[in-house]
Amino acid sequence: MAMEMDHPCIILPEEQAPEGIQHCERCGLFKQGSRVIWGEGNPQASLMMILDNPGAREDREGSPFLCGTRETLQLGIREAGMDINSVYVTYLLKRRPIRAYNKPEARLACLPHLQLQMLQKQPLVLFGLGNVVAEALLPQKENPSVKELRGSWHEFESIPVGFTYHPLAVRRRPNLLKFFVEDLKALKEKWEERSTKAT
Ligand code: SF4
Repeated sequence: MAMEMDHPCIILPEEQAPEGIQHCERCGLFKQGSRVIWGEGNPQASLMMILDNPGAREDREGSPFLCGTRETLQLGIREAGMDINSVYVTYLLKRRPIRAYNKPEARLACLPHLQLQMLQKQPLVLFGLGNVVAEALLPQKENPSVKELRGSWHEFESIPVGFTYHPLAVRRRPNLLKFFVEDLKALKEKWEERSTKAT
């Protein structure tokens, strides 16, 4: 499977953070100057994907910009036969780290934002991208890795969660693309099954 973009990728609409969180200073990341990104895609989607943190969204001139992570994620979504409009994408950390930072502090401080989103959106299925997300969502597991977790379903706050590689890892190692698409296909199946039960 070639890593080719034969369809243009789209810049998904960004969802604004709730009032009061837009200027969150709960962890030291606020001092690094990146803004709070709440999520993007369909805010009503019952399928929630979780990345570690937002990538760059604007170039130096301030024009909208599609980072490699979002480009590869969209490629996988398309290859798996999923509708990009049925997905909401959010992050473990709502700000993009620019420099080194206190990771445990930031994860702990930002987790309530994700929990609030889950409470508001009531997703049927969660999908974590990369080891960092796996570590945060499955703290009971010692050194969880996507390589071991993929292919089965786990739970976070009583919601089924699946895992796959981070899109940037797939970009760096194109041989992972077929596994990435496989995992997204399994996600589609799970989501369809849960959606049918919910109606
Ligand atoms: S990363 Fe999360 S907890 Fe830290 S300042 Fe930003 S929004 Fe707040």
